Amino acid sequence: MTELIVQLQRLWQPGPERCGVVLDNGEIIELPNRAEQPALAFEVADADLAPYMGRVVASWHTHPRTSGNLSVSDYRTFQHYPDWQHYIIDQSSVWQYSVAFDYMVLLDQVFDKEMSDE
Ligand SMILES: [Zn+2]
Repeated sequence: MTELIVQLQRLWQPGPERCGVVLDNGEIIELPNRAEQPALAFEVADADLAPYMGRVVASWHTHPRTSGNLSVSDYRTFQHYPDWQHYIIDQSSVWQYSVAFDYMVLLDQVFDKEMSDE
């Protein structure tokens, strides 16, 4: 398991969805979740993202109550950033998505057995 995946898995917690980006130097940035119902979705404001544009290689967000399967709004959000990787973090694993020709590809689903046993 890569260090990035380990760090992403630690961001999972119950409550509202958390979200942010990963920069080209590997730094994980958390951004405010501006969704109307942050327990059900995430939304990042352009103004919050602006300082990092050009250095972002991936997005990440947590699914506090469900698996890392894509929601419809996740799908649409990811399509806006086809050059990025997209990570969804659920309680026990990190799901990595990539956009290819407008389709969404699940590249990897990494389980952290230690954490899911807690
Ligand atoms: Zn989601």
